[in-house]
Amino acid sequence: MPYISTRGGMAPASFSDILLGGLAPDGGLTIPEVYPLVSTAELKRWRGLSYPELAFAILRKFIDDLPLETLRQLIDKTYTAAIFRDADITPVAPLDDGVWLLGLSNGPTLAFKDIAMQLLGNLFEHALLASGGQLNILGATSGDTGSSAEHAMRGKRGIRVFMLSPHQKMSRFQTAQMFSLQDANIVNLAVRGVFDDCQDIVKAVSHDARFKAAHSIGTVNSINWARVAAQIVYYFKGWLAVTSSDDQAVSFAVPSGNFGNICAGYIAKRMGLPIRRLILATNENNVLDEFFRTGVYRVRTAAQVAQTSSPSMDISKASNFERFIYDAVERDPERVRELWRQIDTRGYFDLTGTDAFQRARESGFVSGSSTHQNRLETIRRIYRESGRIIDTHTADGVKVGLEYREEGVPLICLETALPVKFEDSIIEALGHPPERPAGYERLETLPQRFEVMDADVERIKDYIAHHTD
Ligand SMILES: *Cc1c(COP(=O)(O)O)cnc(C)c1O
Repeated sequence: MPYISTRGGMAPASFSDILLGGLAPDGGLTIPEVYPLVSTAELKRWRGLSYPELAFAILRKFIDDLPLETLRQLIDKTYTAAIFRDADITPVAPLDDGVWLLGLSNGPTLAFKDIAMQLLGNLFEHALLASGGQLNILGATSGDTGSSAEHAMRGKRGIRVFMLSPHQKMSRFQTAQMFSLQDANIVNLAVRGVFDDCQDIVKAVSHDARFKAAHSIGTVNSINWARVAAQIVYYFKGWLAVTSSDDQAVSFAVPSGNFGNICAGYIAKRMGLPIRRLILATNENNVLDEFFRTGVYRVRTAAQVAQTSSPSMDISKASNFERFIYDAVERDPERVRELWRQIDTRGYFDLTGTDAFQRARESGFVSGSSTHQNRLETIRRIYRESGRIIDTHTADGVKVGLEYREEGVPLICLETALPVKFEDSIIEALGHPPERPAGYERLETLPQRFEVMDADVERIKDYIAHHTD
């Protein structure tokens, strides 16, 4: 499976070539040259497969330059009941008649990012052992991504993680998830500043090609193709779990920020999975909802991003969106370059009335957004009707999903985090905190390991230089 760039400036590369990279060399995103197709006969055979078996059947279509046995071992090592606390890995539970919750948040950090990140950790380690290389991952986090990356990379040979987070600005639970890790290859740098300061430092280091090369600096951000690929699997798993006939279509409701999760659903649909609607839900930061309603994609400035009660969706732009737009403009890299030039120069592009927008809509997307009050009401409603507590992000998706519910079409709502991660909002909605999963009861009392640093690029570079070999 050759991979190309959405901006047309990269010679076709193999999966292993693009695995460790971020952006393509031309500034675009990597994407398979063609989407592999899944036949009805295959779908039929996949009924009854375990999660790792299904993951192997799907991912081998995208990862064809590793020996099959190696790929199988890496997948088997990743998707275990011990790591995901459930033999189904992504169990479904009924919320209402024809409405289901796909549980994606049973991994170590209790959010859906673990599903892709845990595999990434094993793929990275394998690649680095094979090449004898060393990778120093530098990242910035406001919570979920950093902790998911650290839990996936802890103890991995050939990998070190330097994670910048805003000092004393994450929730106690999120802080404890990261800072309680005692692994020598995980370095938490608490930066005196806000998340944007952390991100600016990562950007500054990324622009210093010499430093990057000298210290083998890499990233694990949401544009990484392997993360999108790993997420495709659970759309198939969800469909298999709630249907019994091979042509039964379902709809998915997906709380969205960087368009990574729902991009995987879109690709599953292109591969032939019977998906009727991809229901995209945003919070008050509605960049993507605005696009699907109007055809205008307008990125926000940092100052325009609202801090909400679903913070992992508080984004100024949707970093994976270019993969989808590339298809909408019929894979014309010149048009992609032109559209992103417009974003750079005037902050938006407008596809209103174009064939591209028509195609974007016809690909099954509908959208909506929620407010803080909507999320609290949805949490209360679902608790009342099903006895389950959902988190604020999941509530975004459920709220918008129910608005598009159709008679006779199963609706699968993706659970992107467990409520315990956002306890304060649950207390606000229900008057009491959610139950903690076993093993997380005393997380905040564990000893913590972190360095406090000034938001100073040179000091942080210096620190990295002294802690890499
Ligand atoms: C990252 C995240 C999202 C948004 O996912 P995208 O892939 O960025 O669209 C939603 N909910 C939670 C809990 C997250 O951590």
